[in-house]
Amino acid sequence: MVWRENRTTPCSAGVASSTSPNDRVCYLPVGVFPVVPASGSARGCRTSLVRRNVWAVSACIFCRIVTGDAPATKIYEDDAVLAFLDIRPITRGHTLVIPKRHATDLDELDPAMGATLFSFGHRLAKSMRRTGLAADGANLLINDGRAAFQTVHHVHLHVIPRHRGDTLRFAKGFVLRRPHDTERTAAALRSGLDRLAEEERETTA
Ligand SMILES: [Zn+2]
Repeated sequence: MVWRENRTTPCSAGVASSTSPNDRVCYLPVGVFPVVPASGSARGCRTSLVRRNVWAVSACIFCRIVTGDAPATKIYEDDAVLAFLDIRPITRGHTLVIPKRHATDLDELDPAMGATLFSFGHRLAKSMRRTGLAADGANLLINDGRAAFQTVHHVHLHVIPRHRGDTLRFAKGFVLRRPHDTERTAAALRSGLDRLAEEERETTA
């Protein structure tokens, strides 16, 4: 068992797997939990790990949204990802896409999960052109780490609808970060995903 004290990596189930050598690496946050003695028994380490991971997951607001313990206006979810409206949107329809399994930053994110995350972000950006939002484009962005202004330490992909000539509106939204008619916005985004799926079915038929 290897203990690393410089980051937090709870899984969404709150218990680390030990089915592969890599999974035997345990991450704990600095300054939050007491340091585990290097001489601790395997059973003691596992018990501590479970207790601490449960604590860390419950402390992560995005993990709490995944488990339904915190509110969010959800747009889409499957086994791997969840998309929900940013509560402080820059533009109407600003959505966050997250992996359901906790990863603090890109260093911790499984590359396959990163591809899945972007794949859905790509899909959502396309669907934004097919809704009442009538987006002309989108910004897709990940703030990775405190140096890049990451404020919630669970990887998230911002998908921000854009319109031609919206520079001033975008700048104003960046400052104000106010929600816009949340339920209607969410309904529009869901219908855009449905419309995109319909188009794809027609193309392959
Ligand atoms: Zn989390």
